[in-house]
Amino acid sequence: MIDIHSHILPGVDDGAHSEQDAINMAKLAVEEGITKIIATPHHQNGKYRNNKQDILKRVDELNHLFQKEKIPLEVLPGQETRIYGELLEDFEKGDILPLNQTNYLFIELPSGHVPRYTEKLLFDIQMKGLTPIIVHPERNAEVMENPDLLLNLVKKGSLTQVTAGSVTGHFGKNIQRFSMKLIEANLTHFISSDAHNISTRSFKMVESISKIEKEFGSQAVYYFQENAELLTQGQVVYRQEPSKIRQKKFLGLF
Ligand code: FE
Repeated sequence: MIDIHSHILPGVDDGAHSEQDAINMAKLAVEEGITKIIATPHHQNGKYRNNKQDILKRVDELNHLFQKEKIPLEVLPGQETRIYGELLEDFEKGDILPLNQTNYLFIELPSGHVPRYTEKLLFDIQMKGLTPIIVHPERNAEVMENPDLLLNLVKKGSLTQVTAGSVTGHFGKNIQRFSMKLIEANLTHFISSDAHNISTRSFKMVESISKIEKEFGSQAVYYFQENAELLTQGQVVYRQEPSKIRQKKFLGLF
């Protein structure tokens, strides 16, 4: 299994602090059946800056460490890039790192809202030949209130990634219910851990997969796993026609 979102790179953000933390995370990842993991440190989210060249170097070092420790986990380079006005200028400068150096780029929205320039920037990103993947939309307050915002962005070419812990209820019932709605409405294309540590923000991949299998069948599990694989290879991923989430009924559940 491939996990495309993690904070396993030590000492660069609020994920693993030390090499030992990274080793502990790697061992747990292997136990969950993960063979490849994309390290996606935060970039430009207010607190952390992790430029492309720095990440590439550190991912090499981490792979050497895991080889030395005989941990069968391959780390691939990536970045969790917060949306900001100069993102494309910085891409031109070489600071931005798409996932495994493909054309798929993680985009993180602020947790409370969707900035007004989002649609335009996601369009411009695609004009550069990149495919934006909006990370954990299920945890964005404005998207939860108005899922049509996300439907519009997906219809216009963006992909999305839901966090495994959201599916399992780790972030609460509302986020769990909304995550299931997103899957049902074909509004998400990837499930990944966004693991930060082995305690409070762990992988939950196995648990999320069994939940998805139970609710949506093995086809859905296959779809998400295949997409992670295709992404790391830089190939075109599967998309299914997205549909509208019935907002009234959804809000009634709160
Ligand atoms: Fe993250």
